[in-house]
Amino acid sequence: MGLRVLIVEDNIDNLKLMRYLLQAFGHQVLTAGDGPEALAVAGREPLDLIICDIHLPGLEGDEVARRLKASSTWVRVPLVAVTALAMVGDRERVLAAGFDGYIPKPIVPRTFVSQVESFLRRQPAEERATHGT
Ligand code: MN
Repeated sequence: MGLRVLIVEDNIDNLKLMRYLLQAFGHQVLTAGDGPEALAVAGREPLDLIICDIHLPGLEGDEVARRLKASSTWVRVPLVAVTALAMVGDRERVLAAGFDGYIPKPIVPRTFVSQVESFLRRQPAEERATHGT
């Protein structure tokens, strides 16, 4: 189903792994290495889904989520945190920031892509926002 996915991640090894896995399943991947770059890419590219690390230089993932979800363009586009956060309350914190859910680190190659795709199946494609509408 060829999605356009933005991965926001400052750890190059994690970024390469996620990109490799998504591309292997036929998805198109755009990348950003920090929060401001993520917002810049989101400002100019149509995307089906955004994967975002929490601890990022420049702007933390929470703040990226708040800013994206304040925009009607992105409110219906799945925004998925990837994070090693595993403490009680972290899930609530991530959801409160505007993320639609999260995938725990470390990334599990065997299940990562299906975890990502599961966020798409939660809403009909025609209801997904596209950039500029
Ligand atoms: Mn990070």
